[in-house]
Amino acid sequence: MPALAHVIPLTSVAGTYTYRVPDEMAAEAVPGARVLVPFGRRQITGVVAERVEGAAEGLKPLHDVLDARPALTPELLALTRWTADYYLCAWGEAVKAALPSGTEVESHRVAVATAPPTAWDEARGRKLLRALHEAGRLPVAALADVLGRKTVPHNLLRRMEAAGVLRVEAEVQSARARAKTARHLRLAAPGGQAAAVRGDKQQALLAFLATTGDVLQADALAATGAASSTVKSLEARGLVETWDAEVERRADGLDGEAPSPAPDLDLHPAQVSALEALVDAVGAGRPETFLLHGVTGSGKTEVYLRALRATLALGRTAIVLVPEIALTPQTVRRFRAHFGDRVAVLHSRMSPGERLDAWTRIRDGVYPIVIGPRSAVFAPVENLGLVVVDEEHEASYKQFDPAPRYHARDLAVLRAHRAGAVCVLGSATPSMESVANANAGKYTRLEMPERVPVRTAGGGLRQPAPLPPVRVLDLAREKTVQRLKGSLSHELRLAMADRLAKGEQTILLQNRRGFAPVLTCEDCGWTPMCPHCAVTLTVHKGSGGRMRCHYCGWAQHVPHPCPECGGDDLRMLGAGTQRVEDEIAEVFPQARVLRMDLDTTSRRGAHRKILDAFGRGDADILLGTQMVAKGLDFPRVTLVGVVEADTGMLLPDFRAAERTFQLLAQVAGRAGRHELAGEVLIQTRNPEHPAIQFALAHDFHGFALGELAERLALGYPPYGRMIGVEIKGPKEGSTRQAAERWGAALRTEAGRVAGVEVLGPIPALIGRIKTWWRYQIVVKAPRTLPASVLAAAVQAAEGSVRLPSGHRVNLDVDPVGLY
Ligand code: ADP
Ligand code: ZN
Ligand code: ZN
Repeated sequence: MPALAHVIPLTSVAGTYTYRVPDEMAAEAVPGARVLVPFGRRQITGVVAERVEGAAEGLKPLHDVLDARPALTPELLALTRWTADYYLCAWGEAVKAALPSGTEVESHRVAVATAPPTAWDEARGRKLLRALHEAGRLPVAALADVLGRKTVPHNLLRRMEAAGVLRVEAEVQSARARAKTARHLRLAAPGGQAAAVRGDKQQALLAFLATTGDVLQADALAATGAASSTVKSLEARGLVETWDAEVERRADGLDGEAPSPAPDLDLHPAQVSALEALVDAVGAGRPETFLLHGVTGSGKTEVYLRALRATLALGRTAIVLVPEIALTPQTVRRFRAHFGDRVAVLHSRMSPGERLDAWTRIRDGVYPIVIGPRSAVFAPVENLGLVVVDEEHEASYKQFDPAPRYHARDLAVLRAHRAGAVCVLGSATPSMESVANANAGKYTRLEMPERVPVRTAGGGLRQPAPLPPVRVLDLAREKTVQRLKGSLSHELRLAMADRLAKGEQTILLQNRRGFAPVLTCEDCGWTPMCPHCAVTLTVHKGSGGRMRCHYCGWAQHVPHPCPECGGDDLRMLGAGTQRVEDEIAEVFPQARVLRMDLDTTSRRGAHRKILDAFGRGDADILLGTQMVAKGLDFPRVTLVGVVEADTGMLLPDFRAAERTFQLLAQVAGRAGRHELAGEVLIQTRNPEHPAIQFALAHDFHGFALGELAERLALGYPPYGRMIGVEIKGPKEGSTRQAAERWGAALRTEAGRVAGVEVLGPIPALIGRIKTWWRYQIVVKAPRTLPASVLAAAVQAAEGSVRLPSGHRVNLDVDPVGLY
């Protein structure tokens, strides 16, 4: 029987496709290997899911095998399958998420003229032929432009192809990311002959090579001042050898900085018992999940580091997930100090080439530890022993676009469990999901309620630094008693002045970037909106003042006077980080301020520069968005101020309170972590809100108790399941109609299942983004209903609705924010 392969196409098309396996590919086209396959009129990359034997009649052959070693292990193949089933996407989409980006080989279709323009006597066709004659060949997708139309003239192309005046063919584009090679160098005959050469450069180079052995040519030249011509002439005389070999492009943000050794700390008792529980489970190969709940500064990271060491000692590997934002140089340095070159760092700022290099070496077992943001949950390590999810409550673990809309924490728990590995979820403010799982006994709870003792200047230990006192300032009251200056209350200004006088540092959080979120005309009420999105434009400073859309990037100059009524009383309402920066400069002209937000950190390395400068004491105040709340540890920070705690609190999202509490607790944890005592000031318009009140008391358990009771009463996660259905389209009316049809289908299909509720459709909170109109439906069910039953109902609805062309639907299982 001929050999066949079921192949997962790396597209959004569901299912697998069967191909014949040519004999010469039989050994390599095994499950997990990437292959190039004909697909419709294109060639695309796919991954072999399974090999079978059967009748090959009518089946197309594989065109090529792209890997000598399978890209995916059976474990990862199965994990991607599970991801696709649970998160309702194509298997190929899940596989793509698990592979380094930019490595797919694909073809696109190009058109070639096969007759002169005069061979076609209709104007549009002639125009196409003329363009093709000029260019030689053009991508089909570009032909729309040639005719000045929005869509490719497929009908016309088909007619022209049938008439034999042009041909459409597939052209393979090679992957964007490939392995990189570089010239290497060594002595041809070790020892001798150095005396035989004249010329300082030649002698220096030979002497250098005699001490180093194999080196990169670039390094040898830099060290000796020799030129590549020196190498050539030595090579011609048979004295050195050169060759090309693969090199790794590394990008951990440390620019090759040498690691400083890790200090050997004596763990304190809470750390010891947490570590023992973890190491015991890893050693026994018991797939247990732990919830490590420890306040900021309680020494969680230290526990991870020790547990990782123990895991490596057992010959097993580990994955450490951190939120992208917490992948600071501080974190990377700490891991490097412990594990040196045994840790691979993955992050979103890597180029496709750097990512490919890291991925290949992880797969080849060079790095037993992988640290990275959510996609690292798919890291191709084998023999997994431990998975750490730090700051497990972070919303950034959920991928939104593109599919798969997976939650990396949940996949981490699943992957570890299936691999017989231990998973530890760590946080100072665990998610309600994890708290509920711990309450139900599914996770083992480990508590570290106190900060670690601090080492005093004299070298002795002092009792744990207490959590800093928190004060709440009612902005409404401050305003009526006129003690508010811009965004800064009298008390906050006093506290800042005090730190400036003492030479201590302040962190200020304002979770909104730009200058002002709203511009409005006092005369007619006009407010500029993005022409592509249903949001107001944010005013930004610089280049004469611009207004930007934070959803699509669209920008325009700040108008004056009002374009509606000609009035010139345009006011900027609210404050973003830029405005707070200006206000600080006004009140404290002597203060040195660093601002950290999306605008100041977009360049590679900028994030690190800001943090290093602040760490060195080059600034008094670090002001920024939520970026300043996470993972930072600076001993001289004694004041944390929250300019406006309300920015995310009143969103119509059942997680708004949880997020606000988390953010406040996290940022509060930045103060007074070392010898100097800290203080936290929170400014808010809602001082009675539970998120504020419990943050004030550092009372996580109190907050969780109330929050969980509310979720239970309303059937929200973690006590209910949710699937978000987003319907997008180019026109409002057609999108609404499509959403209504979806709603009806869901009510028919899901309505058959007891307990399932279908809410909506309603216009999404942001009703239009990047010209797409958006409607939303939420499907809700009790947790007791198996996920697969709910999924099947939604899929049945999907099968029964035909969306008009140009409209799309996105299914989001366990959504973390509906906006
Ligand atoms: P977390 O991850 O919970 O915020 P860390 O592990 O970062 O806590 O610890 C906070 C600080 O305390 C770090 O500077 C760390 O080096 C230090 N530290 C942790 N454990 C100990 C210990 N047992 N003895 C002394 N210092 C410690
Ligand atoms: Zn006006
Ligand atoms: Zn926009």
